[in-house]
Amino acid sequence: MTPIGVFGGTFDPIHFGHLRTGFELLQVLRLTELRFVPAGSPPHRDVPLAAAGLRLEMVRAAVSDQPGFVVDDREVRREGPSYTVTTLAELRAEHPGCPLCLVVGMDAFLGLPKWHQWREILGLAHIAVAHRPGWRAPTAGLLGEILAECGASDVDELHEATAGRVYVHPVTQLEISSTDLRNIIVSGRDPRYLMPDAVRDIIRRTGCYTREGTR
Ligand code: ATP
Repeated sequence: MTPIGVFGGTFDPIHFGHLRTGFELLQVLRLTELRFVPAGSPPHRDVPLAAAGLRLEMVRAAVSDQPGFVVDDREVRREGPSYTVTTLAELRAEHPGCPLCLVVGMDAFLGLPKWHQWREILGLAHIAVAHRPGWRAPTAGLLGEILAECGASDVDELHEATAGRVYVHPVTQLEISSTDLRNIIVSGRDPRYLMPDAVRDIIRRTGCYTREGTR
């Protein structure tokens, strides 16, 4: 039972922090594949600057040369808010008996109790939490309890059950965020070496983060 990884995000735009984290988890968790799932309409944050189709195009360009990286466009195609629980329920139905592993950064994990039907999530998938610069694992409260109860100390535990474990893994700390990248671009600086050149080319071609290019 080799798990499928599910890496959701706004990816506005995708950057090396996402890609390196995904790559390390693909290897460490021994995933059969890692699905990047760009949110069409993320429910918990401001409207993304780049249109969903363009964010999808950037994700496709970013992952195309890495075996095991897969793009899943279901949230962009779906009408209405992009709820992770809906995506996981669909994947669960498509892959019965296969472990699913939702990949999130620590900042996203800390916001989990605000997610739609968040308590259903561990019934559908494991959660792999990547340490992210500046964020610490919760030791108290609801999430601290979940970590104490469901925390996995060994990757094998993610292979032995289809859902229900939380595994925290320290990835290489790359202090890159999409917000910082948008600010770099809008101020006329070059985001080179923070994202794949193919993504930078799309941003240049479309002007999607410069003032004239924004919606
Ligand atoms: P923004 O700055 O717009 O909030 P972001 O850089 O956090 O964007 P998202 O698309 O919101 O990117 O993130 C998707 C997922 O990737 C989240 O689970 C987030 O925690 C994780 N993530 C983002 N950047 C990094 C990074 N540098 N290292 C590890 N994980 C990251």
